[in-house]
Amino acid sequence: MSHIGAEPNFGAVALLIRHARVARRIVSIHVGTTIRAVGPELAATGDEELDVEGAAVLPGLHDHHVHLLARAAAADSVACGPPEVADEAALGEALAAADRRLPAGEWIRGIGYHESVAGVLDRGALDRIVANRPLRIQHRSGKLWILNSAGLRLVGSDSPNGRLWRQDEWLRARLPRRHVDLTPIGREAAAQGITGFTDATPHADPAELVSRAAILPQKVYVMSAPEAAHPGPAKVLLDDESLPSLDDLVDRLHPARQVGRSIAFHCVTHVQAALALAALEELGARPGDRLEHGALLSIDQVDQIRRLGVTVVTQPGLVHARGDRYLEDVEELGDLWRLGSLLSAGVAVAAGSDAPYGPSDPWVSVEAATTRRTVAGRVVGPDEAVSRATAIGLFQGHPDAPARARSISPGQPGDLCIVGRSGVEGAVVAGRLVYQR
Ligand SMILES: [Zn+2]
Repeated sequence: MSHIGAEPNFGAVALLIRHARVARRIVSIHVGTTIRAVGPELAATGDEELDVEGAAVLPGLHDHHVHLLARAAAADSVACGPPEVADEAALGEALAAADRRLPAGEWIRGIGYHESVAGVLDRGALDRIVANRPLRIQHRSGKLWILNSAGLRLVGSDSPNGRLWRQDEWLRARLPRRHVDLTPIGREAAAQGITGFTDATPHADPAELVSRAAILPQKVYVMSAPEAAHPGPAKVLLDDESLPSLDDLVDRLHPARQVGRSIAFHCVTHVQAALALAALEELGARPGDRLEHGALLSIDQVDQIRRLGVTVVTQPGLVHARGDRYLEDVEELGDLWRLGSLLSAGVAVAAGSDAPYGPSDPWVSVEAATTRRTVAGRVVGPDEAVSRATAIGLFQGHPDAPARARSISPGQPGDLCIVGRSGVEGAVVAGRLVYQR
């Protein structure tokens, strides 16, 4: 298993766990960087001992799709979409509250906007809400920022409507540097049993993330743009509004492929899936290749995915968080956020949160994968529900082979999650206890 990015360096730490429940047996587990031994009542090793008193010990959870820097930024941003903000009045109130709270001249950063709140937003609409300070609001898709006039002036944009598509890198270079601290994310995730992250942002240069992530107790596996000089998966964004030709896409990915990188396609519509799969047919699919999201997949595409051996990295948490919207907006509900039908077709599947765009708590995703229930309690595609064990397993793959399950056996990575009757009681990364309730 390789970790491309920040690997916590704990030195040679090891732990002897007593009275762990593994597959209905009570065992001891000796764990360091890898699991060294599993057996009934192992002899003392001289390492620190932890008695978990019959709690279940599972492979630690790995969030296979997250955006860590965006998630850190979201913590001090204003929610501008459902469920927190449902209509124009609520949006105005949320932004006015931020306007009162923040020092003069400071940016308001809004996130999660959806047209169901107040239609298509532009600079004029934002100026009517906040005119005296810069304001930027990100669309829920993550693809679009909308700025008010004060904000546009500051970044030097002459966009007439203030709607900036896919210009994150351009914007970031013109915005004041934000203080980004991943410490709270690491702490929160450890308490949820998360021992690793895959950052799915197509970083042009992943160096900033790699250096900031070094303080996390979790392992971090990093994707980057196909052009980046980096060994992790090459992440490709596909937008229906600006799809490349198949030839251009293959040309763009070819150099990454030649240096042995796997490829991850952002893929939320049928046409994006069709293009991604056609590109993989041309390039020759490899085991590490992935379709991120796979939000809409036809049954023929499911078959093609299985044949190519591509892994679908899905987000059951979005079925929960956005399901009520989907039930209004999406016509092909049978193709929406497949899960059970992917697994029964023999497709390799893993899961991630897509936080901050989806709920960060993996247990919300596990619940959604088993019930397919939305925030409002409606059900999206009940036939796609899976068992709890299967749902948890979606978070227990290897970072570079997300659908290949880790297990509690010697030689496996030393990343564990301890689950008692009332939830997560501990987390171990590379033999070190990083969380204990
Ligand atoms: Zn994402």
